[in-house]
Amino acid sequence: MAYIIKKKSGGCCLQCGSALSGRKGKKFCSLECKNSYHNQINHEIRLYRGAVMKKLARNTEILTSLINDGRDSAKMDELLGLGFDPYYLTSCSKSTTGHDLCCCFDFCFIRTRTRIFNLRRKSFK
Ligand SMILES: [Zn+2]
Repeated sequence: MAYIIKKKSGGCCLQCGSALSGRKGKKFCSLECKNSYHNQINHEIRLYRGAVMKKLARNTEILTSLINDGRDSAKMDELLGLGFDPYYLTSCSKSTTGHDLCCCFDFCFIRTRTRIFNLRRKSFK
């Protein structure tokens, strides 16, 4: 007669912290804990992505406003005062002159520590 001896995995449920038993590598004590854990992570990811999209949307509004006012440059202090966040962009690379060439969706500009300039909107025609 063979007996299957279940060894304790020694770990704790990642969701509720209760001691785990059963197969090696088990992470959750139940399906409910597994689902709660992943739902919580996915909720936090959605919140983070929503916050990033909100910052990108605000940056786009500010850049649109500058273009509509006929401007192609602004001091960083002014932009920060309006809620612009220079770290939330859709791309950033070095220009041939060594400047930071940044884009926020279809708006592109050169960014220095104190200002942005050469602001333009990509043309799709
Ligand atoms: Zn659990």
